[in-house]
Amino acid sequence: MERPVPSPELLDFIVDRVSVGVLVVDRDMNVVLWNRFMETNSGRSAAEVVGQNLFKSFPELPATWLERKITNVFVIKNFSFTSWEQRPYLFHFRHNRPVTGGIDAMNQNCTFLPVKDANDEVVYVCITLFDVTDTSISQSMLRNALRSLADASNRDGLTGVYNRRYLEHLLSQEFSRAQRYGNMISLIMLDIDHFKNVNDTHGHLAGDDVLRNTARRLRGCLRDIDTFARYGGEEFAVVLPETPWEGALIVAERLCQAMGSHPVTFGELALPVTISLGVSQLVPGIPRYEELIRRADTALYQSKFSGRNRVTVYHEENTSSSEASE
Ligand code: GH3
Ligand code: MG
Ligand code: MG
Repeated sequence: MERPVPSPELLDFIVDRVSVGVLVVDRDMNVVLWNRFMETNSGRSAAEVVGQNLFKSFPELPATWLERKITNVFVIKNFSFTSWEQRPYLFHFRHNRPVTGGIDAMNQNCTFLPVKDANDEVVYVCITLFDVTDTSISQSMLRNALRSLADASNRDGLTGVYNRRYLEHLLSQEFSRAQRYGNMISLIMLDIDHFKNVNDTHGHLAGDDVLRNTARRLRGCLRDIDTFARYGGEEFAVVLPETPWEGALIVAERLCQAMGSHPVTFGELALPVTISLGVSQLVPGIPRYEELIRRADTALYQSKFSGRNRVTVYHEENTSSSEASE
């Protein structure tokens, strides 16, 4: 039994009504067919576009790439494809989604189909455009959500600065880099003096506020490339890449001064807050990054022992030296 053949009118009707862009070009890149999807989204009617050179009508198209792509289909006689992940769109069409996830144009998957004659010669190339904006928006939103989750897992909930987990991760990376390339790194550990008194006298809310304000003030004294983190409780750390101990000492003294010079406010209260600091520097022979922390900690406790509100630099031969007050 012979299969019924759909009439040309029926095929025209379908090509016009599908929610897919369909355009056909000949070997000279002249447009032969331009369906309603293309009319609606480009704002250009078939009457304007058909019979005209595609690139003359749409100079904003990526001409070199697209012409090569179409020519390949004529020559190789095979179907070809491009996805929004490689090239977000071919034609710059607006989309009407209220939530964009940062995507401002309709994203498209495109196919390039050879249209052959009876002699198996490619006479036209048919290009279809599928609107995949929804997929691309949800992927972009997922990517953003994963990025903020990753960032949140590196942050301290109370102060918003990096947490100990991130600090140790960074320190181990910087340590390996320094071992390999001989870079310099210094570490400052610091601890708020007599912080228990703040909690005992003014309550934990005041204590929390002092921690937040202290973190903000200290962070504000540092360069962008320095990493500032809450190590735990009322103890913070600064990783200073490319910085020898002499430079770290200057930074540490600046931090000490920044706290000691004026009080931290909590509501009506002005609470004097000082910090004690310890500095260590990566030197040959330090086997692991944890040793850098231990050394800065030793120097920090030396600062506490010597009267607080001061900086001590760790020196292998003499841990009690290089103290600078105020
Ligand atoms: P020192 O000068 O020797 O460092 O004395 P200190 O009182 O600062 O040290 P100590 O270790 O005795 O007390 C630290 C206090 O910090 C005790 C702890 O309850 C408080 N603390 C730690 N984390 C937080 C926090 O997230 N919020 C508040 N409000 N207090 C905290
Ligand atoms: Mg303390
Ligand atoms: Mg402490």
